[in-house]
Amino acid sequence: MNSKELFEESKKYIPGGVNSPVRAFRSVGGEPFFTRSAHGSKLFTADGAELIDFVCTWGPALFGHDHPAIRTAVEKALKNGTSFGTPSEAELEMAKLINKMIPCAQMVRMTNSGTEATMSAIRLARGFTGRDKIVKFAGCYHGHVDSLLVKAGSGALTFGCPDSAGIPADLAKLTLVLPFNDAAAVDECFSKFGGEIACIILEPYPANVGLIPPKPGFLKHLRGVCDKYGSLLIFDEVITGFRVAAGGVQARENVMPDLCALGKIIGGGLPVGAFCGRRDIMEHLAPIGPVYQAGTLSGNPLAMAAGAAALKMILETNPYAELERKSKFIVDAVLEASKRKGVELRAPMAASLFSFFFSGEDVVNCDVAMRSDTRLYSKFFKGCLEGGVYVAPSAFEICFMSAAHSGGDLSKAAEVMAKSIANL
Ligand SMILES: *Cc1c(COP(=O)(O)O)cnc(C)c1O
Repeated sequence: MNSKELFEESKKYIPGGVNSPVRAFRSVGGEPFFTRSAHGSKLFTADGAELIDFVCTWGPALFGHDHPAIRTAVEKALKNGTSFGTPSEAELEMAKLINKMIPCAQMVRMTNSGTEATMSAIRLARGFTGRDKIVKFAGCYHGHVDSLLVKAGSGALTFGCPDSAGIPADLAKLTLVLPFNDAAAVDECFSKFGGEIACIILEPYPANVGLIPPKPGFLKHLRGVCDKYGSLLIFDEVITGFRVAAGGVQARENVMPDLCALGKIIGGGLPVGAFCGRRDIMEHLAPIGPVYQAGTLSGNPLAMAAGAAALKMILETNPYAELERKSKFIVDAVLEASKRKGVELRAPMAASLFSFFFSGEDVVNCDVAMRSDTRLYSKFFKGCLEGGVYVAPSAFEICFMSAAHSGGDLSKAAEVMAKSIANL
């Protein structure tokens, strides 16, 4: 079956034909392609097309798809069985790697997804502080956790329903939503409710409404506010951890959160999440503390093997300077093309992450991102796809560079993307 036939058939059995909404291409129009296999920098579709992939399975493929070292590690682990339901040495190895790489990670608990990681981190923050309210920022996506699916980015934003049906209003009331990069709004919120706020949770570089860099000093300001009011600072580094630096944004910007959520990259392409942080807080978790959290497949040996292989490669190769150089090559080519064409474009980037806003204003928060021209983005997306380049299928998702993208991939991609801009 080709993609069209597969999609028609899938819609009979899977809501919308997909297992995660953004895959349906609703925001850029048209129908999704189905992938048959993925190797290195490329996706191979059910229609026989070969695409240069800048989505990288939404982050995990930092070293490209099907990397030999990760495949070998999984094959080796597979020989010993797929799941034990008991502690295993691979979990200790993973915890030690995260402890070594992520500055705040005195202790680590593994989960199966980023959603579980953020959900558990806010429960822990509430259990530790004895407070119920939490603060998040508009446009920050933290997975589909009830309390956090309020003014969230990513698919929720694309579909124009930041507040999903099925979330009790009484629960959403405990989530205070502020504009990103607005220190005065944070101060005002805390002067009113400071004593009731368990935590601030944020993506330190929001990457689910496109990429939004924090203003200088904003992250440090949040650290200060949390210290003043006895609230916890939680960085959701599910995307940024291991994508902008080995130690995440906390290392790059030198701001230490109390807790941190991880995911995507730490699974090396298998389903994994984790949360980590200060020992005195993490020791509030069951079985030694009163905050319950669990997972039948948490710390799964195949996932640990894949993730550990990826993290060890990061330690061995420190790929970030090279990734930054490659992202800049693409971003510069697209900016140059848009200048020639006379369309206004903003293209923020950080190491292996970059995104394109068709906007004449610097994008400092979700509201500005929402004002960008999504119709132009959809045309840009389609032009790229027709030329064999897969960029994020939504104006509000970001693109990912991998270590596997070759010089040839990049020059071809730059050419296709520039042509797509010229044809807007
Ligand atoms: C993807 C993502 C999540 C959710 O992770 P899942 O594994 O999809 O549940 C949480 N936070 C951020 C910042 C993400 O990008």
